[in-house]
Amino acid sequence: MHRAFDSGRSLLIGGRWEAAAQTMEVINPWSGEALGAVACADAGHVERAVASAVRGAEAMRALATGERSRILHAAAAALEGDAERFAAAITAETGKPIRSARREVARAVNTLRLSAEEAVRLAGETIAFDSFPGGEARSGHYVYEPVGVIAAITPFNDPLNLVCHKLGPAFAAGNAVVLKPAEQAPLVAIMLARLLLAAGLPAEALCLLTGRGGDFGDALTAHPDVAMVSFTGGAKVGEAICRAAGIKRLAMELGGNGPVIVMDDADIEKAAAACVSGAFGAAGQNCIGVQRIYVHDAVHDAFADALVAATAALRVGDPTDDETDIGPMIGGAEAERILAWTEEAVARGATLLAGGERAGTLMRPTLLADVADDARVACHEAFGPVVSLFRFTDLDAAIDAANRADYAIHAAIFTESLRTARRVAGRLRAAGVMINDSTDYRLDAMPFGGAGRGNMGREGVRFAAREMSQTKVICFHDA
Ligand code: NAD
Repeated sequence: MHRAFDSGRSLLIGGRWEAAAQTMEVINPWSGEALGAVACADAGHVERAVASAVRGAEAMRALATGERSRILHAAAAALEGDAERFAAAITAETGKPIRSARREVARAVNTLRLSAEEAVRLAGETIAFDSFPGGEARSGHYVYEPVGVIAAITPFNDPLNLVCHKLGPAFAAGNAVVLKPAEQAPLVAIMLARLLLAAGLPAEALCLLTGRGGDFGDALTAHPDVAMVSFTGGAKVGEAICRAAGIKRLAMELGGNGPVIVMDDADIEKAAAACVSGAFGAAGQNCIGVQRIYVHDAVHDAFADALVAATAALRVGDPTDDETDIGPMIGGAEAERILAWTEEAVARGATLLAGGERAGTLMRPTLLADVADDARVACHEAFGPVVSLFRFTDLDAAIDAANRADYAIHAAIFTESLRTARRVAGRLRAAGVMINDSTDYRLDAMPFGGAGRGNMGREGVRFAAREMSQTKVICFHDA
């Protein structure tokens, strides 16, 4: 299946697949097998891709909203019909367990459907010009117009659904896209591009450039004909993109360091099960994964025991096995980093409750208690299968500690008290607060983004489609 890409013809420019002088292997992080070679784009490819996308943007602009919607519905149906092949490709290139990969495909189908619906809903409104002196004899409305060419840059951890979160709203709003998928996991994006073209997307509305972001990222994001850069990935790359892109529309979906508060009245078993799933799903490589848990002293030990038991029940290993809960990380270096951060925390007094071992790309789900506030595992985004427990007696102090991280996307609280839930939800610095659920709960229709440093914009199809549009007012003076 994946051998189809061995030719390295993975650059989609002007509706045709091209090779490049340089190629790079895509490696299965579980087996180490080379899945295929993809082309490494360079600045010359960017020039041609953007020129093609400018024509693609004209074609999209001219396309009736009903036709945009039809194409996206057709793509959703085709993806649904080919779900198993897509899930297998996600598992092969990321090491994500097959059950999670199937869930990702189902979500991607939903993201495309929501986009199809948004295409016909993205209308403006009539404005009551006569509501204020000076508006007499005027009438008018505003409409959403496409921004033009969008550079979409995506990470490895949800290589299908995060690409759909860029392409779906962009096409719904009538834009063209130059897509740069993650270098570790570009295959499923290539499969999606083929599927969209087969569904009737105008040939030049989507260009796809594989390869290393460092080689051609600046040329793409700084290009004057790129009207918007929509990026999902780490803060370091996000900052580099903002510097290169200059003044243009930017959407930055960056990292997180998900905090959870467990109150003394919480349902401990339910909270532990949700936290284990939220911390270790996708081997912790999840921007909204649970990373820090602040537990009320009265239930701390009982909660820790429940967490250890739920962690011990996880099946870790071969991601192609239907029974597997936790697979490998994307690479050995990432697993080694999590191990080093764990060892540092333990050297500084933390107690290792579970895990703390690495074999190749596999890092066992790791639980730490009594972690120093300034240990890397607590204060930097881990993006790996390690979670830290902190004991609290004073709720205000726990909220302050939860809010101390650089990056915030989602936070969570477990409590049976509505009053506490409301109070804490109001005070947690996050773009979403989950009550009695893990930080990693996300529905693709929800507004989604960051609340911390550097985050800009909101995803969630409806919200992204508006950010990928510009409003135009049309005003008639009838006198
Ligand atoms: P990354 O930042 O290393 O890479 C993301 C993308 O940027 C890749 O496609 C990469 O090739 C590209 N890139 C690298 N250098 C570039 C440059 N100079 N110019 C343009 N593009 C460049 O991220 P990653 O390791 O793939 O993913 C992990 C990170 O993504 C984590 O920090 C995680 O929290 C974040 N993430 C955020 C969300 C969200 O929705 N907020 C979702 C998933 C992942």
